[in-house]
Amino acid sequence: MAELEPTLWRDIMDYLRQRHSAICRKWFEDLQPKGLNGGILKVRTSSHIQQNYLKRECLDQFTEAAQSSTGALVAVQFITGEEADAETLRNESTTTAIAEPPGTTRRPAPIMQRSDDVDHEYDQIVLSPDYSFENFITGPNNQLACAASVAVANQPGTAYNPLFVHGGVGLGKTHLLQAICQALMRENPQVRICYLSCDSFMNHFLDCVQSGQMSEFRHRYRHVDVLVIDDIHILANRERTQEEFFHTFNALYQHNKQIVLSSDSPPSDIPALEERLVSRFSWGLVAHITRPDYETRVAIVRAKAKLRTLQMPDDVVSYIATRIESNARELEGAITTVQGHAVLQNHPITLELAQRALGDPVGSTAAGQITLQQIIDAVTIYYSVKLSDLQSKRRHKSITEPRQVCMWLARKRTRFSLEEIGGYFGGRDHTTVMHAIKTVNERMDVDPTFGRQVNELTERLTRKP
Ligand code: ADP
Ligand code: MG
Repeated sequence: MAELEPTLWRDIMDYLRQRHSAICRKWFEDLQPKGLNGGILKVRTSSHIQQNYLKRECLDQFTEAAQSSTGALVAVQFITGEEADAETLRNESTTTAIAEPPGTTRRPAPIMQRSDDVDHEYDQIVLSPDYSFENFITGPNNQLACAASVAVANQPGTAYNPLFVHGGVGLGKTHLLQAICQALMRENPQVRICYLSCDSFMNHFLDCVQSGQMSEFRHRYRHVDVLVIDDIHILANRERTQEEFFHTFNALYQHNKQIVLSSDSPPSDIPALEERLVSRFSWGLVAHITRPDYETRVAIVRAKAKLRTLQMPDDVVSYIATRIESNARELEGAITTVQGHAVLQNHPITLELAQRALGDPVGSTAAGQITLQQIIDAVTIYYSVKLSDLQSKRRHKSITEPRQVCMWLARKRTRFSLEEIGGYFGGRDHTTVMHAIKTVNERMDVDPTFGRQVNELTERLTRKP
């Protein structure tokens, strides 16, 4: 195989950092170019998880970088260590690789049929190398869920069965589920894990019913060591899928096979979930993840910046952690925005750059800023209340809820102080506003319907006319 020009790989990495900074990760440093031959650049990865992830999520960007850096129609192929070794052996008998059109990958050599290779169209979500226990930051908000996940990964089927993790969006449920899968696979490559979204389970079920392939369906889900289903709340109101899942659950449970589920709400709050499932979901451990507190947010921002090899000064870290209170996904979004601005401007990340990138609401007329009037208009229409009601002393729920949402939005989206906001809504003091913000935040965590309403309102406000 032709040796790679020493600078070529560096050029490719530089190109990715410049043009596709959002996908770049610290673990890219583990990747090794294995040579360029017959128009194919082979890149050695450290694990199947990396290989599958790169193939699925980053192939286009790598191909673009390789083509730009070589000026040739190069295709990129991600291979594992075993494949790289086999390649070296084969090359000793000097075969020439045949060029493939860019953007395609050849099937990897069948080295070992592991449970994570068993492929169907409904298949398992590709695991992200980012979603490991090492990369998961614990805090008071997720300690129980994380400890239970680690226990399950160490002792599947015996520690907590099922493990049911619930919480609002972006709080790390998928991350924990994937971390369990990765830890299990690392400990025991033979373990049969089935990890999929509840959506896939449901679609697969419906297709199998239609095509009369129920025995295959049952075989598939009842003969695994670990069944991990993300977003199980999707079973809400799906009677037939619930019925089928009930039997899947029993079959696995009776054989001490581990079941792990995530949901946006606790079992009893999933709408129209059969009582027998509600009770089964609570047989093991039900762990609630709530919003991260300030210290945890700081740690998350630090960890994410490190994962992306970003130089992020402390003041920027705390600025982002202060600015974004909702969840880790939003924190990550803010980091991506700041990173994007830094790359575009070819400027190191500074507080000022971050403030500009995130459109600091304290600034006078930051882009995307919303006026108090727009908030009031949106909320009064949404809840069919009058402004005079919001400003009145009335404390009926039909008034307090929109009033609290107004205060929450005003605090988040305008530059008014707590005192100013309280004053505007009927001469209330700042503690009332603080209480309103806390109430809305807490309710968004536990009441998905309310969470969706508030998000919808926020979106209406920020949508461009
Ligand atoms: P959910 O499934 O609960 O909606 P995800 O697991 O998809 O949330 O998390 C959203 C993003 O936030 C992911 O990139 C994840 O890595 C990150 N994240 C969430 N919680 C944490 C945490 N405690 N530590 C590190 N990253 C986190
Ligand atoms: Mg998720």
